[in-house]
Amino acid sequence: MQRIGIVIIATGPLTSDSLAKEIKEITGDEGLHFYDAAAPIIEKDSIDMNIAFWGDRYDQERGKEEDIDEWKKRIENLKEADYINLPMNKEEYENFVNELVNAEVVQLHEFEKREIFEGCMPIEIMAKRGLDTLRFGPLKPVGFTDPRTGFRPYAVVQLRQDNKEGSIYNLVGFQTNLKFGEQKRVFSLIPGLEKAEFVKYGVMHRNTYINSPELLDETYNYKLNSNIYFAGQITGVEGYVESISSGLVAGINAYMRYKSDESKTFSNKTMIGALAKYISTDNKKFQPMNANFGILPGLDSRIKDKKERYKILAEKSLKEMNITKV
Ligand SMILES: Cc1cc2nc3c(=O)[nH]c(=O)nc-3n(C[C@H](O)[C@H](O)[C@H](O)COP(=O)(O)OP(=O)(O)OC[C@H]3O[C@@H](n4cnc5c(N)ncnc54)[C@H](O)[C@@H]3O)c2cc1C
Repeated sequence: MQRIGIVIIATGPLTSDSLAKEIKEITGDEGLHFYDAAAPIIEKDSIDMNIAFWGDRYDQERGKEEDIDEWKKRIENLKEADYINLPMNKEEYENFVNELVNAEVVQLHEFEKREIFEGCMPIEIMAKRGLDTLRFGPLKPVGFTDPRTGFRPYAVVQLRQDNKEGSIYNLVGFQTNLKFGEQKRVFSLIPGLEKAEFVKYGVMHRNTYINSPELLDETYNYKLNSNIYFAGQITGVEGYVESISSGLVAGINAYMRYKSDESKTFSNKTMIGALAKYISTDNKKFQPMNANFGILPGLDSRIKDKKERYKILAEKSLKEMNITKV
């Protein structure tokens, strides 16, 4: 059966205002974002878990009357908590804040400054308000006990799970406009993140993208009107190659819909499939995503060496595509 009226919307991060308005009308108020103020995301395997500890605020804290052994036993079982926490002492905290306030930032356009800062202040700007501002804001330590000392830390950085598989985590409250190199340098000063692998750096810029986990399936097809596909950065993939990959999937599927009722999804062991899966998987804190190894399904056993781990993931992906050597 042939169909008519199939469209692919691929108007990018700077989609014109009139089209954005129409997209908002069909997708609803929560359906379209105009700015990207995202915190950095890191690979869980690169966090030093000898320093970090699991637990949600107040749940993890040792109660006043709580027996120390019972508390230790209780926090052992917190591995399923939403947060990984990184404690800091006074010296570590002050050194971090000092480097943060002096780090190099990306220049924003005036309109971006106005619109983004209103809703979401960059961490480096917050830190400039005073040495203790972060300790009373995103780095506040109340409700935590450092398992290594048995006391409340001076400050705590929290990491929140960022994908369903729990392989990548974002730094809570770390929306930033620091240059990428500076993010690596300054955020690696946080105890436990010395060897952090950043899968995505924090950004603050104009970026029009839809709430794909709610709106799209793995073929980039709009769930409420199967004649509409979205592709490119407007779907929440980010970058040239990522945008091309989504266009490929949407294009193939638009053609298949035109010709028949069939569709084609790509295995999530390949990067094309993993991106499609990421943007279409339930995620309350959906943020645009680049291609990175962290969104591929994890390996059965832990391989510490990054080069070796990536090689195996790449080989698995090639095998999935029936390619033995490239
Ligand atoms: C300064 C800058 C540097 C970048 N550098 C890199 C980089 O080095 N590497 C990288 O991977 N990515 C980079 N990116 C990101 C990259 O540009 C995007 O991820 C990619 O171009 C998105 O592709 P797209 O096809 O979704 O959108 P676009 O490439 O933006 O294409 C969308 C097109 O739709 C048009 N359009 C908008 N509204 C309408 C409308 N109503 N009707 C018809 N047409 C419309 C636009 O004019 C545009 O031509 C950069 C982005 C910027 C802004």
